[in-house]
Amino acid sequence: MKFDLHCHSSASDGTLAPAELVRRAHKNGVDVLALTDHDVTDGLAEAAAAAADLPLRFVSGVEISVTWCGKTIHIVGLGIDSENLALAAGLASVRDSRVSRGRLIAAELAKLGIEGSFEAALAYTRNPQTLSRTHFARHLVEKGYARDVRSVFHQYLGEGKPGYVPHQGATLDKAVAWIDASGGVAVIAHPGRYGHSRNQAGVLIREFRDCGGKGIEVLTASHTADQARLYAELSRKYGLAASCGSDFHSPGESRVDLGALAPLPSDLKPIWELLEIDPH
Ligand code: AMP
Ligand code: MN
Ligand code: MN
Ligand code: MN
Repeated sequence: MKFDLHCHSSASDGTLAPAELVRRAHKNGVDVLALTDHDVTDGLAEAAAAAADLPLRFVSGVEISVTWCGKTIHIVGLGIDSENLALAAGLASVRDSRVSRGRLIAAELAKLGIEGSFEAALAYTRNPQTLSRTHFARHLVEKGYARDVRSVFHQYLGEGKPGYVPHQGATLDKAVAWIDASGGVAVIAHPGRYGHSRNQAGVLIREFRDCGGKGIEVLTASHTADQARLYAELSRKYGLAASCGSDFHSPGESRVDLGALAPLPSDLKPIWELLEIDPH
């Protein structure tokens, strides 16, 4: 069975509609797919309906922005109930600051002579509350300020670059509690992206586990082979389940397609053992 438990649709910063994403996953041989949009669950109903017509099992998910030790990290929730009030209110509170933060990004870009990016970036969203750096990046590429989205982050929007404005996320314990309250399992997304030392990674994992977190992404598009080995080792050491997901955003932008990752090392406890996956 092929699992892809992390990807994005046009409900957040992906470019495919949820149903298109599900059909692409099926075409790529995915048997179990989770949609995990940033701080929003609006795409789940459409994705689940599309999956119901296919031999593909769908897992409702979300990726929550968290501020931990002054930096942004991402926590994926899998098998969530998006109707849960604690989760829905929590996600709304995290989305809340995205528009005002978008204005601050536009103000920084204006200082560099890039005018009008707030309205232009908003035009790339389906819901203004999901406004993200990715939407700004697509606009900047379209205007010729950079070759591709990755280069925009490198030049303007990545941490430490002139257009960088952090987004205030949830606290780690709240994000895990919302996921837990809605019946889901919490997973640390792409731990290799945070620039943590092995020691800091251990601190994060212990704190996450102490508030009820269950899993860690071992395989994800942004991990090098060394990072995959390190986080496989830490999942064994700390007794966390292992997850895998492409973090696919767009056919034109993502290096790793839906379903294209290698399988998890067979000695790890896979996160899907903790999920109720509806057979149909
Ligand atoms: P935001 O939540 O608005 O801070 O935007 C974060 C999103 O930007 C991530 O979910 C990625 O989709 C995207 N992103 C972050 N860093 C990069 C990068 N170096 N290259 C391409 N996309 C990135
Ligand atoms: Mn994203
Ligand atoms: Mn992420
Ligand atoms: Mn993601």
